[in-house]
Amino acid sequence: MKRSAKVKRTGNWVELQSLSSFLNKWKDIGRVRLLDEVKVGDQTLPIHGLVLGTDDPHAPTFGLFGGVHGLERVGTHVVLNYLAPLIEQYRWDESLRDTFRKMRLVSIPIVNPGGMYLGSRSNPNGVDIMRNAPVEATGKVHPIVSGHRISHRLPWYRGQTGQPMEAETQTLINFVRDEMLASEFSMALDVHSGFGVRDRLWWPFSRSAETFPYLSVVERFRDELKATHPFHVYTVEPQHASYLIHGDPWDYIFDEHTKLAGVRRDRIFIPWCLEMGSWTWLKKNPKQLFFQGGIFNPILPHRYNRIMRRHRPLLDIMRQLTANHRHWLAPQRESASAAGANP
Ligand SMILES: [Zn+2]
Repeated sequence: MKRSAKVKRTGNWVELQSLSSFLNKWKDIGRVRLLDEVKVGDQTLPIHGLVLGTDDPHAPTFGLFGGVHGLERVGTHVVLNYLAPLIEQYRWDESLRDTFRKMRLVSIPIVNPGGMYLGSRSNPNGVDIMRNAPVEATGKVHPIVSGHRISHRLPWYRGQTGQPMEAETQTLINFVRDEMLASEFSMALDVHSGFGVRDRLWWPFSRSAETFPYLSVVERFRDELKATHPFHVYTVEPQHASYLIHGDPWDYIFDEHTKLAGVRRDRIFIPWCLEMGSWTWLKKNPKQLFFQGGIFNPILPHRYNRIMRRHRPLLDIMRQLTANHRHWLAPQRESASAAGANP
């Protein structure tokens, strides 16, 4: 992969270093795939994909993704702080091991390691992975923030027209296609931070206000989340309710899935995006503005710990709703008595 960026030291090695010791432990319970490598100066940074559970391509699959934007390190931390304790639980929890005989969990904890190393939102070529797929938004877009082709020196740069997608974008797409799209039911969660004061859980699309073909599924999911986790903090809505963007790889992957499978009840794929509202952290601790990445990451330890605690139940419930999708999506679920009779 060619890299033209000027390398600067940022001290953001901690995620990448802790990842390698985590991966060694992960190999005790699951598989690690080296998907690609990114060169930044004299550094070679791997993009790893993790897989846990059955090899059956049709099995329900939950995907967890972080670090698409290198600056939003907290997303990677939320992912790793979910997966690392899972390794420990897996050792003693027979019911958890049973679950993974029938389902799969897959993850890329750091999609954009070059951006994380450099402390930048974009990849080392200056391209925003979240704006890089060949998807054109229609509707009211912002001329810069929604994605632009003016210069790689400005954030939200999409890359040049006609160029292939960046390696990080392609790697993400290939991994999701290989590991998730043949599944009878799959949900992906891509963890970001930075927009607004509330934690938002978005379903597609970000390219337009068109209706998501699995609207009834995401609405049912929203109801089940509320019923199972009544005090949760999330605003669950379509991404276009907040803003529209060009080039969202998840919109692209969803279209790929539709091309492969059509819109069917037995091949459902839902890509979610968790956008943690980091402006609250800033309001409570304005000094964060002066730390690198302070707008996007909690700096004080108690706030960091609270954020790690806050999202764990969501990830657990998403994993369990994925594994048990037949029970809450089945037509019988319309009536409580039928659900009890035929779970
Ligand atoms: Zn982001």
